[in-house]
Amino acid sequence: MIKLHDKYFKPFISAKEIDDVLQRLAIEIAEDVGDEIPVFVGILNGSFMVVSDFIKKYPKPCEVTFIKLASYEGVKSTEDIQRLIGLTQDLTGRTVIILEDIIDTGNTLAEVHRIFKNEKVKSLKIATLFYKPEAYKKDFKLHYVGIEIPNKFIVGYGLDYDGLGRNLPEIYQIKETQHMTNLV
Ligand code: 5GP
Repeated sequence: MIKLHDKYFKPFISAKEIDDVLQRLAIEIAEDVGDEIPVFVGILNGSFMVVSDFIKKYPKPCEVTFIKLASYEGVKSTEDIQRLIGLTQDLTGRTVIILEDIIDTGNTLAEVHRIFKNEKVKSLKIATLFYKPEAYKKDFKLHYVGIEIPNKFIVGYGLDYDGLGRNLPEIYQIKETQHMTNLV
């Protein structure tokens, strides 16, 4: 059990399991792309560990780049402005595979699709290490899914809780409030 800020988290997915899943995804994607040299696009901040470990397992030539989507409060309170930082590369005619750490509601994914709509890529596919099916509210196809998880908050392996936890090599799941009373 660990404590980050005011919340307790319990061990959920081991580093070994993550490693095995990334290995499986790397092989599966390499087989699918055939002779193409794909461009893997990591979505910062959360995906830096996924991308780093994934591409070391990818058995064929590939390219890697990152983009960052920043949310800002807009003029209206409900308006969220997403801004793209990065993606200077010309992706015309390329096989692009988005590498996500986690897909929750799918809002981030919708933004990614909006950004790539005007790029003349050959194909755009989505790979994610973690996926919360109960939370997902979009229709975009997820081509490669590592592990389906329940709709509970997790930290570790690049994912943070208010800035903390990204450096943990494994995944921890939030402890429900009622269980915490014994600990504090
Ligand atoms: P979505 O836009 O699909 O709702 O969520 C995507 C982003 O929300 C992820 O890239 C991640 O930054 C954050 N996120 C979603 N679920 C979790 C979670 O369980 N834990 C953490 N730490 N971040 C999450």
